[in-house]
Amino acid sequence: MTAQAVEQRELAVVIGLEVHVQLETATKIFCGCSTRAAEDEEPNSRTCPVCLGLPGALPVLNEGAVEAAVKIGKALSADIPEQTTFHRKNYYYPDLPKNFQLTQYDAPICANGSIEISVEGTRRKIGITRAHLEEDPGSLQHKGGSIDTADYTLINYNRAGTPLVEIVTEPDFRSPAETRAFLAKLEEVLEYLGVFDPTRDGSLRVDANISLVDAEAVDEDGEISEDALRSANRTEVKNISSHKGAEKALAYEVTRQRNAIQRGRAVEQETRHWDESRGITVSMRSKEEEKDYRYFREADIPPLEVSDWKERIPIPELPDARRDRFEAEYGLDAESASKLTSTKEVADFFEDVAESFDPDLAATWVADNLLGELNYRDMEITDVADRLDEFTRLIELVDAEEVTTKNAEEIVLRSMLDDGNDPDTIIDREGLGKANDDEIVGFVEAAIDENPDAVEDYHDGEDGALNFLVGQVMQKSRGSADPGTANQVLREQLDG
Ligand code: ADP
Ligand code: ZN
Ligand code: MG
Repeated sequence: MTAQAVEQRELAVVIGLEVHVQLETATKIFCGCSTRAAEDEEPNSRTCPVCLGLPGALPVLNEGAVEAAVKIGKALSADIPEQTTFHRKNYYYPDLPKNFQLTQYDAPICANGSIEISVEGTRRKIGITRAHLEEDPGSLQHKGGSIDTADYTLINYNRAGTPLVEIVTEPDFRSPAETRAFLAKLEEVLEYLGVFDPTRDGSLRVDANISLVDAEAVDEDGEISEDALRSANRTEVKNISSHKGAEKALAYEVTRQRNAIQRGRAVEQETRHWDESRGITVSMRSKEEEKDYRYFREADIPPLEVSDWKERIPIPELPDARRDRFEAEYGLDAESASKLTSTKEVADFFEDVAESFDPDLAATWVADNLLGELNYRDMEITDVADRLDEFTRLIELVDAEEVTTKNAEEIVLRSMLDDGNDPDTIIDREGLGKANDDEIVGFVEAAIDENPDAVEDYHDGEDGALNFLVGQVMQKSRGSADPGTANQVLREQLDG
């Protein structure tokens, strides 16, 4: 091939992900050590002979972790086998006290699933090859530098044995942007299932495999020939911890690999490290192969029969289905439905509110007003979930016209969030109850007394004068007067 021909090769991007999800169980996967906030505890205090790999210690499988994995499998429309088994993956690394990781190999808990994503209006189905259970290693702290420059390294085994589900996708992504959409979708689903806490550091960790192939090897459905997949040299990028990070790291790799190919150089098949702060990937080691790990069956954990777990373990309605139902059942537009299903807690809150009010009113109050104010304060719906009664009371007061919408939004709701009072107390304290007719007459008389020029203009037939006076009345009532009533009383007084 001439240099010219090399340059003109059209290339297509191929990406497959391996996603590690930390499961929110109370205890570790093979022992009774607590996983709660283990990263904040005294280092190595959440450990026992099992997770430290001491001689003679025996693992006991955590039922909660298996249940969480089954839920994930159902949400990914995956097959759950009759029987699932555990293997030892052998390698030496200081964060791994047993010198092997307990994981699954040829009989994973889930296989053959999929997730549908949508990027710029195009829907694509991403195949899930498998999802398996395994234990997290401990964590290393490099002191005085990074992995290659540190003076020394500390090891904390509090994390060792935290249950993980590793989700492996087919090489179905055709752009970095698709991986970002996939990870966002996956995280949303995991949150709905209640098996995962996205706010926890390192709760979602991604390894991304990427290669460039001849564009001709891709057919119009985006399918790639097995040959092209196998013959492409790919890199595996480790240490990605966010959706955005995945997109950035892969965009960097696309450019790096394309440059290499266009200069006629081969892409090394290797493991690379995403350096978030520098925004580049760096070579770590040549890619290890399966045979390097000497997988063999873990004799201390008997095969687990899981054939009936799929029927036994329910999962909640998932975000896509709930979004569609919100549009159909409540007549919401796509944008509101999407906002209101962003988390299960928001969706539950909305449905509780919508029981008592017109869906449009409920949607405006939850999606626009409440979420907006929460967002501004860096608060979550979960911070106010136990104040549903106060929130519905506020909408009830607005609906009954006992407080104006403007005051409810700008004063009462904000004060509810800032000082924790209930709406009735705030309305009383601030004097925001709708002004009665006598009060309005008082405000009107005062406005007329104080603005003789405007009164004269009104009698001269100037259009703006009445509006100005209505404005004065509204101001005096601090927005508590009904503008229609103010207008009517003003005319009566001016004309009478
Ligand atoms: P390995 O045994 O090397 O880990 P796997 O077959 O288990 O390889 O695949 C690991 C990941 O690499 C999967 O997510 C898969 O989709 C992805 N992958 C496979 N072939 C390619 C390729 N040519 N380009 C990019 N990713 C790929
Ligand atoms: Zn333990
Ligand atoms: Mg693999």
